[in-house]
Amino acid sequence: VARDGSSSPLEESNGTTIPLSNLSYDSFVNVDRGDPVGFRKFWEKLSEEAKVEIKGDEVMSYFGDKNLCWYMLPQMRNAILRLHKVVGNANTEDKYIVLGTGSSHLYLSLLYALSSQKPSHIPFNVVAAAPHYSEYEGPVNILQSKLFQWSGDASVYDKDEPYIELVTSPNNPDGTIRTPVVKSDAEGNVVYDLAYYWPQYTPINHELNQDIMLFTFSKCTGHAGSRIGWALVKDIEIAKKMVLFLHLSSIGVSKESQVRAAKIIEVICDGHENSKSTPSDRLFFEYSKEMMKERWEKLKAAVEQSKVFTLPKYPSAYCHFTKEISEQYPAFAWLKSVEGIEDAESYLEKLKILTRGGKQFGVDAAYVRISMIGTDDEFIELCTRLENAKIE
Ligand code: PMP
Repeated sequence: VARDGSSSPLEESNGTTIPLSNLSYDSFVNVDRGDPVGFRKFWEKLSEEAKVEIKGDEVMSYFGDKNLCWYMLPQMRNAILRLHKVVGNANTEDKYIVLGTGSSHLYLSLLYALSSQKPSHIPFNVVAAAPHYSEYEGPVNILQSKLFQWSGDASVYDKDEPYIELVTSPNNPDGTIRTPVVKSDAEGNVVYDLAYYWPQYTPINHELNQDIMLFTFSKCTGHAGSRIGWALVKDIEIAKKMVLFLHLSSIGVSKESQVRAAKIIEVICDGHENSKSTPSDRLFFEYSKEMMKERWEKLKAAVEQSKVFTLPKYPSAYCHFTKEISEQYPAFAWLKSVEGIEDAESYLEKLKILTRGGKQFGVDAAYVRISMIGTDDEFIELCTRLENAKIE
C-alpha cells in the first residue's frame, strides 16, 4: 500500500523485478528502502553454480562447531575468512568471529556486551555522528534498557559518562569515510559498522584492523534475505558476551542461511581467485562495481539537469583490490535541496518518488537519501523523474 493509501506494485518488498511496463506514471518509485535487489542480474547468471541443496536429514542440530561461536558452521567461518583475504578489507588475525541474524542482531548483542562489561550505575550513551544510519536509534529506544540509551549526534557528545560510538564507514546515508569523533575523556567503545566497505562501493585502501568490526552479507552480495552478518572482535570477553546474547535471543543463527551464505561467498571467491580465466561479468565485485558506476553516472547527470539538488563530492583513492584509482559509488545518494525547498522528502513525494528524509538521519529536512541498489526499472524511472524536477 502506497503512502497515499492506494496499492502500488512498487511497494512489494518481495524482491521481484517489476517490469517497466508495470511502472505507470502514477506509481510511486520507492527508493526509500535499501533493499539490495539490484545485484539480482549477476546472480541470475550464476544461478546454478550458486545453488545449494539441503537434504531432509542435514543441519538439524543447534550446534555448528567447537569454537567460541558454537552455532557457526565450519564452512561459514571458512567463507568469511576467505572473503576478507580475497578482498583485503579487514584483518581477521587474532579476532573472534561472531555470527548474527544480519548485522542488526549483532548491533544489539554489542550494545549488551559493551554496556554490561563493568557495573555502571548510569546507562551507556549510544552515539553516532549525524547524518547517521536511521536504524540505530529505534532498537535502543524500544528496549528502554537500564544498560544503554540513545544520545544522538556523536560530534556534539560532551558528557563525562561511558559511551558507545558507532562509526559507519562508508557512511549510510552520505557515503563519507569516517573515523571516531567523540572527544570525551570518559570510558568509550568504538564499533565500526563496515556494511559498505566492499569494492563495489568504495576503494579498499586499508586492511582495517579495529577492535570491533561489523559486516553484513546483505550489502556485500545483495542477499539481504538470508539475514547473515558477522562481527570480528578482538576481545574474547566481548565476543563471549555477544555469543551469550545470541544464545539467549535466538539460540544461534539459521544453519540453512549459513549453508547458503557460505556457498555464495565460495562462488565469489572462486571467481576472483581465478580472475584471469573468469569472464569479468562473472566476477562479482567487477560486475557490481560497474553497475554502481553506471548508476552514479546516470544519477549525477539527472541531478545536474534538474538543478534542484546537489550531491556530495567524493575523493578518489587507490583500491588494493582492483589495483586502480577509483571513485566511490555509495549504496545511497544523499541529496540536498537548493534554497526554497525546505522539505526535500515532501517535494519528491509530489513527484511520486519515495525517499527517506534528513530528519530520520539526525539532520534537517533539506536532505534526502535515495537508494542506488534497487531494481533497474525503479532506478531508470527515478532518474527520469529527477531530470524533470524543476523549482516551482
Ligand atoms: N548497518 C548499516 C550501516 C546498514 O546500512 C545496514 C542495512 N541497511 C545494517 C547495518 C543492517 O544490515 P543487516 O541486513 O545485516 O541487518
